[in-house]
Amino acid sequence: MRQFTDFNLISYPRITLPESFFATKAQRRKECTNLFLYLLSIIKSRKMKAMMLTGIRQMEMKEIPEPVLVKANDVKIKMSVMGICGSDIHYYTQGQIGSQKVQYPFTIGHEGAGVVVEVGRDVKRVRPGDKIAIEPAMPCWECDQCLSGRHHTCRKLRFLGCPGQAEGCLMEHIVMPEESCFPLTGKLTADHGSISEPLAIGVYSLKKSGGVNRLKIGIFGFGPIGMSVMLAAKAQGADNIYVTDIIDERLAIAGKEGAALMGNPLKENIVEKIKHEEPLGLDLAFECCGKQEALDQAIDLLKPGGKLVVVGIPEFSRWSLNVETTRRREISLQFIRRQVDCVEQALEMMKTGSIIIDNMVTHRFPFSRTKEAFDLVSDYKDGVMKAMIDF
Ligand SMILES: [Zn+2]
Ligand SMILES: [Zn+2]
Repeated sequence: MRQFTDFNLISYPRITLPESFFATKAQRRKECTNLFLYLLSIIKSRKMKAMMLTGIRQMEMKEIPEPVLVKANDVKIKMSVMGICGSDIHYYTQGQIGSQKVQYPFTIGHEGAGVVVEVGRDVKRVRPGDKIAIEPAMPCWECDQCLSGRHHTCRKLRFLGCPGQAEGCLMEHIVMPEESCFPLTGKLTADHGSISEPLAIGVYSLKKSGGVNRLKIGIFGFGPIGMSVMLAAKAQGADNIYVTDIIDERLAIAGKEGAALMGNPLKENIVEKIKHEEPLGLDLAFECCGKQEALDQAIDLLKPGGKLVVVGIPEFSRWSLNVETTRRREISLQFIRRQVDCVEQALEMMKTGSIIIDNMVTHRFPFSRTKEAFDLVSDYKDGVMKAMIDF
């Protein structure tokens, strides 16, 4: 199936082809018709620019056919802005996250906002001209996970910019199902739309933590996800938030956001420093950077009965836990897989002003200079928090 990638299969569900191709005659006919229509539309379609990964730390601007509407609920979107996510950086610098490996060329990117340019005949939620936030997950809505409300762990999930699932949004136009389109209304801008994706992960992590009101909270790793957790926690009334990171500029942002105390583990003993303020320990700790040291520090600081929420994506394949501490203190553990049903809530919180993201975006680059942006973010240069690509 890879040979189709150059044609930008974002609008063609390529994963279903090999499975169903040998199934019933009717299915086979449907697949063939779809594929034929798709290829026909490619021959007729206009060209657009896509920034594609071509190797480790390599990117090239390529001309590819504009995607076209295939299904009745498809929406064609002209991209306005895209935020660079930590997971994009993993694909850029390592070519994989765990078992999900990039096959080049491939387009990454999933934190997008844009303007609707065309809609399929069944689309009701949006109209051409609407500004929208793009929810990158495209679940099947039919499997056990989807039916039980866990469509973020859908068995047949397609996610923007996820190898083997769908091309990403580092291109001028994309096609998404209408369920992935959330209108930006009121004072919401394209930046709000793009940031609704990481912010939704913060909102979801808070939900899974069981609430934060009047609790002592630690956030270990203050990149955009750590910051999203903090913004969501503040919006829910948390006022005792301790933040650690190895980049001082990020700690300064945490300070502006009202952290009770910040610490840089490369320069000081943050466990001692936080223990000094909170001798009984923390109620909740969010690991948001995917580092073993951060996980260890989080566990060290939790009080008996405390909860560790693991949000970060490590570059290694196994965590290790201190048996003595986790067992004696009866620490509970919650892993986070992206988010489910929190985009709308994140947008609403920004709209009402309970979350203000003004301190999140630190850098902007035009689409043509995407590679510079990726180099800056992957090297943690210039105190970068969130870098945005403007189309
Ligand atoms: Zn993201
Ligand atoms: Zn599903």
